[in-house]
Parts: sequence; C-alpha cells; structure tokens
Amino acid sequence: MRAHASGDTAGGWTAETRLRFLAQATELLAASLDYEETLERVAQLAVPALADWCVVDEVRDDGELARVAVVAADARKQELLERLQERYPPTWDSPQPAARAVRTRDAVLFAELTPDVIAANAVDDGHAALLRELEPRSAIAVPLVAHDEVIGAMSFAAAESGRRYGEDDVRLAEQLARRVALALDRARLYQSEQRARLEAEAAGERLRFLAETTAILGSSLDYETTLERLARLVVPALADCCVVDVLDERRQVRQVAVAHVDPERAELVRRLEERYPTSEADSRSLVGRALREATTVELPDLDVGVDEIAQDAEHAEGLRELALVSGMIVPLIARGQTLGAITLLTSTSLRRYGPDDLTLAEQLASRAAIAVDNARLYREAAERGRAARALATVADGVLLLDRDGVVRLWNPGAERITGLAAAEVLGRPARDAIPGWSEVEHALPVAHEGGPAPRPLAVPLDIGGRELWLSFAGVGFEDGTVFTFRDLTEERRLEEYRSEFVATASHELRTPLAAVYGAAVTLRRGDIRLTEEEREVLLAVIADESDRLARIVNDILWASRVDSSDTDVRIAPFDARQTARRVIESAQAHLPEGIEITLEAPELLPRVAADEPKLAQVLTNLVDNAVKYSPDGGRIAVRLEPGRGRLRLVVEDEGLGIPADEHERIFEKFYRLDPNLTRGVGGTGLGLYICRALVERMGGRISVRSEEGEGSAFTVELPLAADGNM
Ligand code: ADP
Repeated sequence: MRAHASGDTAGGWTAETRLRFLAQATELLAASLDYEETLERVAQLAVPALADWCVVDEVRDDGELARVAVVAADARKQELLERLQERYPPTWDSPQPAARAVRTRDAVLFAELTPDVIAANAVDDGHAALLRELEPRSAIAVPLVAHDEVIGAMSFAAAESGRRYGEDDVRLAEQLARRVALALDRARLYQSEQRARLEAEAAGERLRFLAETTAILGSSLDYETTLERLARLVVPALADCCVVDVLDERRQVRQVAVAHVDPERAELVRRLEERYPTSEADSRSLVGRALREATTVELPDLDVGVDEIAQDAEHAEGLRELALVSGMIVPLIARGQTLGAITLLTSTSLRRYGPDDLTLAEQLASRAAIAVDNARLYREAAERGRAARALATVADGVLLLDRDGVVRLWNPGAERITGLAAAEVLGRPARDAIPGWSEVEHALPVAHEGGPAPRPLAVPLDIGGRELWLSFAGVGFEDGTVFTFRDLTEERRLEEYRSEFVATASHELRTPLAAVYGAAVTLRRGDIRLTEEEREVLLAVIADESDRLARIVNDILWASRVDSSDTDVRIAPFDARQTARRVIESAQAHLPEGIEITLEAPELLPRVAADEPKLAQVLTNLVDNAVKYSPDGGRIAVRLEPGRGRLRLVVEDEGLGIPADEHERIFEKFYRLDPNLTRGVGGTGLGLYICRALVERMGGRISVRSEEGEGSAFTVELPLAADGNM
C-alpha cells in the first residue's frame, strides 16, 4: 500500500540529473565499509539536491528503529531534528513516515503536509510543536530492503525549499534506497564478519591463555609454587596486578602469590596485606566477601575512588598509590568448597574489565581451584600414607576411640602386643572388644590436645589367658581419644622377680653367714672345752658355708656379667669327657648321703668346640641342682651322647622334677619354683639363667625334660669341633 497525499511532483529533475545522482550515490556507497559514515554522506548527497533534510533509520536486532544519519540543509533544522530524535525516537509502531515505510515495506509519500496531517502524526503536543517548527511541506519515506528483509528506512523532507514530492521522486528515492540497502547489507555483513573474526581471535587468545594456565596448573603438586607461577602468567596478560589468597585448614586467609608489572608495587601490595590482613569474616574486606559469599566481586571502576574499600586513611593512601583502574575478585571453588580467591587489578594499562574478562577470569579461577584441590588431596593422601606407614611400623600399640568409645583404629603394634586382631576389635566398643577395658578405662591418663603429655600408667589386662601389663597414655581431641600403649609385662615380671630375689638372696646369704658366725663364736669360747673332733666339725662348717656364700656371690656376679655381655667366650676343641669327670669328682667330695653320681660316655667321643671353663661352670651348676633338688637321694647320671655334628651332655636325676608349664620359665632371671614344690631348698634363681646365657654364647642349646615327682633331665647340646677328632 502506498500512501499518497498528491500525485504532483515539484522536484522536476531530468532523467539525466537523476541518473547522475544515482551514479554519484553508488560510487559513494562503494567507497567505504564504514556504513554509518557512508550513510551520512549519502544523506548529504541528497541534501539539498533532493530534500531539505534527509534521515536514515536502521532496524536494529530487537526490531526497533535507530536513527543513524540526520542531515539538514539548515543548521537550525539540523538541531531541531537532533532534538526530535533525542526526545521522540522513532519506534516500530509510531506514525512517523519512516516507521510506516518499515512496517508496510513500501514507500510512503506525503505530497502535501498540512498542519492537520502533521498534528495527526504527532505523538504529543511537544512533538507537534517540534514538527511545526520544522515546517515540513512534503515528505517521502522508503524502506531499505536487502535479501527480502527490511533493514531500515530513508526519509526525505521538503520544507523551506518549497519542493513538493511526486511519484517521480518516490521512484528516485526507491532507486536510491535499493542501492543504500545493498551497501548497508554489505557493510553489516562485513561488520558482523569482522566482529566474528575479532571475537574468534579473542576467543583463540583466551583459549591459548587458558591452555597455558592449565599447563602451569597441572605442572606441579606444590600448589603454592603453582599459584605463584599462575600469578606471573596472568600479569600482564590479564591484569597489572594479581594476588592469590588461599584459606588454610583453620580457614585463615593466606596470601600465597603476588605479581605486579612493577615489582616495587608488588612489594606495596604485600605490605598492605600485612598491615590490613584479609579475613573471611571481615565485612569490610572485598576478598573476604568473595570468600564468604562464594561470588565474584566486580570492581569495574576503581579509579573513581578507593575510599569506600579502604579501611582507613593510610590504607586509602596505599591504594591510591597503586593507581587502580579496574578489578575483579574471583573465588576459587572446587567441589563446592571455597578454597581462596584470585584478585585481578589493572592500573597502568588503564584496562577496564568487561564481561569477557570476567568469564575468562572465572574460567581461570575454576582451573586454579581444581589444581589447589588436587594438590591438597594429594598432600592429604600422602600424609595419610605416611601416617599409616608410621602407625604400621611403630612398635607401640595405637588405639583410637571415637566419642562413643568405639575402636576406630587398632594398629599392627596393638595386634602384636595383645594378640587381638584388628578385625575382632575395629568397629566395636572398647569395653566389649578389649577384655578388662571397662575396669581400667577410667584410670587411664588422658591429656588434652596441645597440652602436656601425660605420664603413662601401667595397668593389667587379662587377654587370652595371659596377664598383660600395658602402659597407656592418651590424648583427647575433638573426635575422641587416641591411646598409645606398650607392653611392660616382661619388665613387670622382672621387677617382681627382682624384689623376690632381694628377699631370697638375703635369706640365702643369712643362713650360711649365721652358720659361719655360730661356728666361729663357739670355737673362740674359752669356757667350753672342745674335743679335736668337735673343732674339726666346726671348721668344716665354716669352710662349707663360706664356699656356699662364695657361690651365691659368684652367681650374682655372673648374672650381671652375662647381662652386660662382657663375657668373652673362647671356643676351642677339647674332650668334654675330661670336663665332666672333673665336675663329678669335685661334686663327689661333699655329696650328701643317698646320692650317687655316674658318668656314661662312649669309648670314642668326638671333641666339642666350646669354652672349657664355661662348660665346666654349666655342668657344675646342673649337677649341683640335681643334688640340691634330690632331697630324698637318688642316682644322678651324667651322660655324653654324640649326635649329628653335636654332643649332648645330659644331667639326669631322680629328684623332685619340674611341672611342664614351668619348663621355660626356670631359665628366666631370678625365677624359682614355688618353695612348696622344692621343699624349701634354697637358691637365687640365677643358676639356670647363667647356664643358658653361657651355652647360647658357645653356640649351643639347653633344654629340660621333666615331670613333677619324676626327676629331671637337663640337656646341653654343643657343636662338635670341625676336625671331628676323637
Ligand atoms: P636356684 O638357685 O633356685 O636353683 P636355678 O636357676 O638354678 O636357681 O633354678 C631355677 C629353678 O628351677 C629352681 O628354683 C628350681 O625350682 C628349678 N630346678 C632347677 N634344677 C632342678 C632340678 N634338677 N630338679 C628340680 N627342679 C629344678
């Protein structure tokens, strides 16, 4: 549809003039790809030749009209038109000719614009007033159509020139519009291509940058070094200054990296951070806000003023010195956890951050957060690994109870000490899983985390039929209590034996001492006349008891000697039969009644490799014991039995015997059988301990075969001499 006010034409251009005009316009339009400038020039070409003013509107992406060129022959009218554009911008549905042309996709001709028509087209009185002042008499608007799409409109108006437009003018305008539309389309295409190319370039640049940062972030598991490198990469590519803050385990903010194009300023940034530390809780701190709210804090216009973000005058001064322009604080978030924040700032580059920078910074931050998270996970895993290895290898038992008293950790040391497997104990309340726990639990010393270590306490626990003395020390922490314990059963037993020993040894020493003393006193008495025989008996008592005393002292000496390992053993081949014979002979010298000792050895006896005096000492001890523990008399046999590479020396008696469950313990230091089982026979509990130590040092073994009441047989096995000579 075409709106006509009249068919009359006032222009009166010749066909030739029109063609020239069009040629000129075509040339102009082809000259530049900056279409706004081009349109301005085309409009200028039309004024005043074709119109008193010419306006070009463009249909924007949102469908609205945007005025892109306004040219008037009269400066006053140019001004009025600009005001009109400002105050009454054409809209899609406005009655203005341009809007109509766009809507109808056809030329609009107002051949004669009467004040009535103008008033009808006005939006309001102000609009009408402006239009009246412009005094248009005649107008044409033609749509700009490219690829079947309306991309704008061109309007021509005649006023002071008195021109009236007609059909010819409309055709000319249409011809011009076709050319303008084509040029406009071409320019737009070019521009969007250009924009796309720039965007692609920028995107490529960003991708390259991100790839580079990703490479850096993946390069090390030490995240602090990594973040420092990242900060250096970001400056100057994305910022003039970059600060990376992380939250540590206690959620304290720690500045781990600062980079600045100007190293002196980097120092200033560090100083400011030291002086005005950031904290998550601090409502004044912007980094604090980014951390707390886990959102990016945008600071596009830091140059406007830093006073709002400064904490005091000195802070403001420092910030001013940094001459900040724009900034962004992006939180580092991984697995829903805020780990820190990256602050990017610009100053000397005068760069102002926009949405693209923000996207890039956020992408960067998410990669950095993953790197930090990975590094921390790795560190934790490594720490856990180390801790687990330490727990597995430590000799002490380690027991972790949660707040409900359930066993959460039971290390191999604990398994070894108690004999309770982790599988039996873990996940169960300690009072059910550890026998006797409920009785000792309350007595155990527990220190508080970070407090002084408690003095361990030894408590008895009956586990698996054994009484274990375990010394416990605990530390309480938020989630429970961790106890370490060590096995003091052995020490405890020794301690018990030792105190028993002091009792027996003093008793053992006192008996012979009393006898010696008694005999000596009797001998010295002047009032009693002793016969020669009686004197002999008393002297014999003194000699025997002194010998017994000497042997006790000797035992004590030897026990401490084998303990301190300063017993040197001299191994040499010798004939054990000789040794045994001598031991038996000296025993026979003061053999109690009813006891008989025999030596049994094959004709051909290989030599042993041992220390002769020490073997003699061992045999003496065994024979003495055999005599001592045969209070009712009996036969004692000393047998030498050669075997494969070894010689067995057996001392067998028919005495009291030893219960089977005591066979091991009689070799322990200070250990003695219950006096009820030995009919009060005295001793120190050191003899067999010394024997075993000496035999083992000679590379041999000592063992016992015995039954209570059935006599005992002690066997010493020694290696044969290499020469095997008999
Ligand atoms: P003691 O000085 O008490 O004899 P030993 O170490 O020689 O110390 O012996 C340890 C314990 O072994 C003795 O107390 C005794 O109960 C037992 N014992 C040793 N030899 C014999 C044996 N031949 N017959 C019975 N019991 C023995």
